[in-house]
Amino acid sequence: MVSVEQALEIVLRETPALPAEEVPLEDALGRVLAHDVVADRDLPPFARAAMDGYALRAADVQQAPAALEVVGEVRAGEWPTLVVETGQAARIMTGAPLPQGATAIQQVEKTRPLDEFRVTITAAVAEGQNIAPRGCEVRSGDVVLAKGRVVDPAAIGVLATAGCASVGVSCRPLVAVLVTGDEIVEVAATPGPSQIRNSNGPAVAAQARLAGADVRLLGVAPDRQQAIAEALRAGLAADVLLVSGGVSAGEYDLVEPALIELGATLLFTRVAVKPGAPLVFGRLGKALVFGLPGNPVSAQVCCDLFVRAALLKLQGASVLSRPRVGVELAASVRNRSGRKSHTPASVRYEDGRLLARPLRSAGSGDLVAHARANALVVLEAEREEAAQGETVEALLLGRFLEDDGAAP
Ligand code: AMP
Ligand code: MG
Repeated sequence: MVSVEQALEIVLRETPALPAEEVPLEDALGRVLAHDVVADRDLPPFARAAMDGYALRAADVQQAPAALEVVGEVRAGEWPTLVVETGQAARIMTGAPLPQGATAIQQVEKTRPLDEFRVTITAAVAEGQNIAPRGCEVRSGDVVLAKGRVVDPAAIGVLATAGCASVGVSCRPLVAVLVTGDEIVEVAATPGPSQIRNSNGPAVAAQARLAGADVRLLGVAPDRQQAIAEALRAGLAADVLLVSGGVSAGEYDLVEPALIELGATLLFTRVAVKPGAPLVFGRLGKALVFGLPGNPVSAQVCCDLFVRAALLKLQGASVLSRPRVGVELAASVRNRSGRKSHTPASVRYEDGRLLARPLRSAGSGDLVAHARANALVVLEAEREEAAQGETVEALLLGRFLEDDGAAP
């Protein structure tokens, strides 16, 4: 049995980097940048008006009110040809380049037109006021987005600013998902009295998709070694093969022997993690293979901790783990497992700190309780209990922002 840290180290050590491809900007959302993105010009590219108002010489308006001659207008998108001399001002719009001679802008709310050719500036102006100098945000040649960044809406905006109509991103990993279990039926089927619906297939596939992968579903295999091996062959072309169920110590847990039959190298078969101790990891041809525990919560947590990290590493992402925060416990949490434990919790910002309410759960089969959680409270293997009021580590799950996790 390896520790969570050792397991993660082994997984990441075995995970290669996928090649890059160019995609149109509009398809780059959620992808991982394969190269640093560099500004091709200063930002802003010219000294820019930050307000609608009057471009003027600040020395003329050390004291207010001051009357100035209006010599013209500069609009956004227009290159100014006029020059602002002493005693003069030009109407200017937000986003327009500063005309020659002007050293500041007074916003329109602090001006009063006298007539078509004269304006009163009603408040004093400092040098540089309301001007964004050329290059004050970024210099041409600066890195504006680092390789390994997952493209989010802000990054899309930066890419657009940098003129990247197409973007170099890592190829999407191909993930094949095989579900095992005699008791499992597909979602659309009517389960018999001893059967349950396949929730791991869709849920594990969803984890992979959110981590940027393309997914191929290999269906459900019965608990027979030959059938499992046969079904696994269909996934050999994938970068990552995810197998659900059949990895615990039961007589019909046949994923391990099926993998060995196919020539897989298994690098660990048990991890000191709760939920999810039976977790198999190895290589099968060029594919990484994870044998995930069948218990739905265990499968999800193992995806969050290990599979997601591997998929992000394949894409060269610089951040591989879920966000880690310190949370104050609203109730005590126990861990008598001797393994690093992950307790579903609802975390909210309350009275100046993140407060974690551990959720009542019937165990590692209780996917409904897990779906209410927006975080996992983490206790180290040797830690048997953390008391109410203590601050402990928590991993924020992907739904942290959408769901406050309040249990009904
Ligand atoms: P196993 O790891 O195959 O021993 O399965 C552990 C538990 O998880 C059993 O109660 C299974 O019925 C359940 N389980 C296994 N696979 C799935 C699945 N695809 N969807 C939902 N539950 C599952
Ligand atoms: Mg099973």
